[in-house]
Formats: sequence, C-alpha cells, structure tokens
Amino acid sequence: MRAPRLLVPAVLTIACAATVGAQQALPGYSPEASAKERALEAETIKRPDARSASEYSRALSHEVHISGTPAQARTRDYVVNLMKQWGLQTEVRTYDVWMPHTTVMQAWRVAPDTMVLHLAEGPVPEDTTSWTQKEAVIANGYSGTGDVTAPVVYVNYGLIEDYAQLDSLGISVKGKIAIARYGRSYRGIKAREAEKHGAVGLVIYSDPEDDGYVRGDVYPKGPMRPSQGVQRGSIMNPDGDPSTPGYPSHPGAKRIPVDQLDVSHIPVIPMSYGNAAQLLRGLDGKDVPQSWQGGLPFHYHVGPGPVQARLLVESDTATAAIKPIWDTFGIVRGSEFPEQVVIIGGHRDAWGPGAADNVSGTVSVLEAAHAVAEAVKQGMRPKRTIIFATWDAEEWGLLGSTEYVEDDSLRLLHGGIAYLNQDVAAEGPDFGGGGSPSLRSMLRDITKHVDDPSGKGSVYDVWRARAHVKAGEEPRMGDPGGGSDFAGFYNHLGIPIAEWGFGGAGGVYHSFYDSYHWMAKFGDPTFQYHAAAARIGAAMVLRLANADILPYDYVEYAHTMQRYLPALDSAFTKHKWDASSASLGAAIGRMESAAQQFASTRDSVLAHASPGRSTIAHTNDALLRVERALTRPEGLHGRSWFRNLIYVADENNGYANMVFPSINEAIRAGDHDRTMHELADLTTRFDAAAQAITDARRALLGQQPSRGVTR
Ligand SMILES: [Zn+2]
Repeated sequence: MRAPRLLVPAVLTIACAATVGAQQALPGYSPEASAKERALEAETIKRPDARSASEYSRALSHEVHISGTPAQARTRDYVVNLMKQWGLQTEVRTYDVWMPHTTVMQAWRVAPDTMVLHLAEGPVPEDTTSWTQKEAVIANGYSGTGDVTAPVVYVNYGLIEDYAQLDSLGISVKGKIAIARYGRSYRGIKAREAEKHGAVGLVIYSDPEDDGYVRGDVYPKGPMRPSQGVQRGSIMNPDGDPSTPGYPSHPGAKRIPVDQLDVSHIPVIPMSYGNAAQLLRGLDGKDVPQSWQGGLPFHYHVGPGPVQARLLVESDTATAAIKPIWDTFGIVRGSEFPEQVVIIGGHRDAWGPGAADNVSGTVSVLEAAHAVAEAVKQGMRPKRTIIFATWDAEEWGLLGSTEYVEDDSLRLLHGGIAYLNQDVAAEGPDFGGGGSPSLRSMLRDITKHVDDPSGKGSVYDVWRARAHVKAGEEPRMGDPGGGSDFAGFYNHLGIPIAEWGFGGAGGVYHSFYDSYHWMAKFGDPTFQYHAAAARIGAAMVLRLANADILPYDYVEYAHTMQRYLPALDSAFTKHKWDASSASLGAAIGRMESAAQQFASTRDSVLAHASPGRSTIAHTNDALLRVERALTRPEGLHGRSWFRNLIYVADENNGYANMVFPSINEAIRAGDHDRTMHELADLTTRFDAAAQAITDARRALLGQQPSRGVTR
C-alpha cells in the first residue's frame, strides 16, 4: 500500500549538535570498533548490484501476484530459494487470514442512457506483461458486496470536510452512489465516510489532475496514468486480519463473526478517469466549489443525477474467505546478543505485476541480504541477529507484518532493536527518508557514504541539493504516518523504525501497468536506484547489529519533540482553554539533557575502553526502554491497538501523520478534561523515558539505577 511518497519540501530542520564526521568514532562504537565497522560497511555496500536487481525485478514482476493466489506462493519460493542459496537460515510463517477476493465487479451508467463501463485496463502493445498476464479483477480489497442502482453524487475527495460542504449546499448522498476522487486520504477513509453518510455505493477514481495527463505524458509515452488506468487498493481501516484483532491468525484461531467485522458494507469500485468521465460529465445540479474542479475537460457538477449508475460486486466471502498468507525470513544469528533483532523488510504482495510497489522494496531487501550473507561467508558475525523479511498481504491492510508482530510480540518487545521498512524503494531519482527521530542521524550519516546513481556525489549531497538546504541545516525527514508495514512495530510495540527510498513521478500506482517495462523505461532504467536503496539497507542493519551501545539519538529525538509544542498551545488558545504545554515541554527538556549527558558519557567511556559484556547489556536494556516508555498498554482512546503516543496515522486521513495523538485526538474531540489528563499522562511518560536514559548512563558508569523517580 503506502501513501504516494511525501514530496519533501525545502522546509528545514536545524541540525543537531552531535553530527559525526567520517573521522570521528561512530556513536556507540569505540574508535577501534568504529574503524572496523566503517571498513565492513564500505566493503559490504559495494556488493548490491544493479544487474542482479534488474534480474530479480523481472522475475518477481513477470506475473500478477496478489495475496492469496498461487502466484504469491511462487514469489515466496523464489525469495526463500535465493536466501538459502546465499547461506542464510530461512523460515516461512503461514497465517490464515480473512481476506475475501472479489470475483465479479461490474459497473454501468443506467440513466440518462445505458452504457457498460469497461473496467479492465487492457494490454499495451509494448508492455509484454500487460498482454501475457491475465489482468486481475479490478477491485477495492474488502469492498462490501451487492448490486445497487442509484443517482450519482460527486463528493470531491470524499473527506469529512467535503461532506460538510455538501451539507451546506443542501446535498445528501443518502441512497445515492457517491463518486470520489483519489488523493488527500487513504481510500478506506473515503469508504467509511460514504457509508456513514448513507451512500449505497461508492466509486473512487483517479482524476487526471492527480496522476494523469495534467501531470505529464501518460503511459506508455510517459510514466503517468492513462485514461484506462486504475488504482486498485484496500479500503479496510484496521491494521491486520480484521477477524483476529490483536492476536495472530494461526490456523484454527478464534475469529469474530463476519457481521461484526470493521469492514465496508457497501460496494466500492475503483475506476479510471476514462470511465469516471462517463458518470461525471452528465451530472447536473449545483456547480462545484472551485477547489472541487478536477482535470477532466468539462465543468464539474455535484448532482445528484440525472446520471444514474449501477454497481455490482460479488466475492468469495461465503466459500473461501480464509486464505493462507506467507511471511518469509532470512536470518543471520547474532554472536553476542542473539535475542536482540534488527529487522529489515518489505511487502512481497502487489495489486498487479508490482514492479515499483513492491518488487522494488523486495529487491532492495534481497540485495541487502545477499551483501550481508557474503560478509558472513567471509567470517563476519554480527553481534545481534539480523532478519531480512518479506511480508504478505500488506496491500490488504498490513496483514502479514501485523500478524507476525502479534505472533512474536513478547520477543519483539524485549529484543526488537529496530525495524527498517522498504516500500517502493526505487521508482525514480528523488531520495526521501524518515521514521523515528532516534534513527534519523544514523540514516543521514549512511547516505553520506553511498554514491548517488546520478554521479553527482553521495545520496546525501544530492538529497541536500534538491531540498535547497542551507549550511548548518539538514534535509527534512518524514514522521511515521500510516500505510505500510512499520505500523505493527512502531504503533503497536514502540520499536524504533526507519524507512527510505527513491521516489519519482508515479502514475501507475496499484495499476496493471506497474510493470517491469514501466520500471525499465521510466522508474529506474539502470536499476542503480534499486542497488542504492539496498546499499543503505545493508549499512543500516550492520551499524545497528554491531554497535556496542545501541546508536539511538535521543538528543535529536527530544529536539524534534520540542517543535510540536507551539501547535498544542495554539490549539489551547483556539479552544479558550486555560492550559499550556509548559510542563510537557519541561519533561521533554529533561529528556534532552539526559540524552546529552548520556551521549557525552558514552563517547568518553568508549573512547578509552570497550566496556564489559554485562555493562553493555545493562546499558542497552535501559536504552531499549526509552521509546517503549512512550507507549502505553491500553493504547489510544478508542483504539487500543495503537500504543505509541508519539506518532500515529490520523484516524481521519489514514496516511497523514498525527503527532502526540493521545492529546491531539482529545483536542479534536473538544474534550477539555481528557486533554488535560492526556497532557499530564504524556508528561509522566517523557519523564520515564528520560529516566531510562539516565539509567543507561548510570549502567555505563557501573552505577546502580536510581530509585523511585519513575512516577
Ligand atoms: Zn506498497
């Protein structure tokens, strides 16, 4: 799934103090270990290879591999066989998930005249995959089923505010078929809102203004979406198998009844702008507000009618709703702390051939695995366990990664060092990265040591130049929102995460044309960006696995948190509440000074000696508590699975990030008392995080942890 990659604007963050030059020791390493690690990384990142990346890309994208189909069993075997060949220990985990497949999907215009809308994308002569492969049924995963006929109403993006606007125009979608354009939110939010407002069906279409001819030449002349191109995709809002919330979908698991599942109950159909135009063109009624006008060559109206549509969706819910999915793992066991794991993963399923989404991420994981496996053959043993994962059924709602996280939650809570996500790792030249602020400085440092395929310096140099970053500042990195496999690790368990990739024009997202041909012609013709993503991955896993002291940057973390406080204060003012973020800010300040003290202690201790194994173990145990302290077992108000209190996907958007969600959701609800309670709660948790950092420092100095401070 994944949101179309955030364009990284030239908005800047101030560089934090502890920038480490190439000559200085790496954070968490002694000077000697640092030199050794630098040499290991330099050697390892030479190995990812554009030619083999191209070969794996071709092999994995040569057929449509939707989760729950035999083709997806073949990608499993392909990946596992490669990892075995490279000498990695492998494992496959099977989960049985509730994942009905659409069997019939059809649409008609039935008034003012009758017209069949041909939903298939169809073959493109120069794209071999598009005519050798049977096109998958056009579908929105987890659509409701039914056969409905009703007048059509245009609802813009189908957001909450769009329905408010319709209300003000006196238009209701009750009993109607809503038609919404893609963009501005996860499609599951569009389905939820349409159903909530009484629509009997929903069409979601790709407006040419978003990723079609308004943006550039369309496929196959250019990379953008052609008039018959469709964005498939799930419309389910919860993460993971909806029938086993919070626990793994082992065969025979107890499931909640189908009529109680948190899924859509109305038929939802994704559509090309070629077909959508046949419904939108004839709409009458009120003029749309100016911002609702899209890129089709006529003036848009809201309706309802006189155009009427008929939507028909059938699925295998009654006969074969439960399907097996397969996560794969390639494992390098750690030599000193094998119970601590660094995981890099990408989803292996797709809505079509999936060359960009997500064969590119799978290939990045494979190339990184191959590079590290070579190092292992030459005698390298990482201190911690490294796992190279591919997830199934991400496209349906993060099922594979979520079931795994729920399955292994205890082990991951205690030993999960970091999760690194690769979703659409290469579809253009523009680097972007993000994740937990504790891992950002490491990711930045590693991009300084990987050559950019453009030949214009390092990935970091090119990234900086494109973001027009001034001296002393750093390119902005993304906060974790929603829409990909990091959610289980980050939102549910509080494990630090990072992600990165090379973005581009897009245009074939979740389409039949996300093919090897598209990739080789437009996305990454040389496959060098695939290799570059893998080089970063190989260095990241090694750096995390081999450090003496876990190299989290809690100075940058606290610094980043401070930036979110002014928005809280403006919200309090807006609500005329007598409240302030001052106490929360003070707690974050205490975390920052604890982190600064820890970093200087760590650097001076490591400069003189490598501490003993038990000192290291105690220090790292305390460090592992820092971000866990910013989660809570009961989760967010009304959605207990989301335990992390720092970032979450906005529940009214699905992709966009919401910071300090326990507080900001209470503010949004207009609930003063809950807001004050949440403010105090988060303040306490930042103090616990600061305490964990202080405990790490004391452990490193061989002192006992202080007592009784954790409130
Ligand atoms: Zn994806």
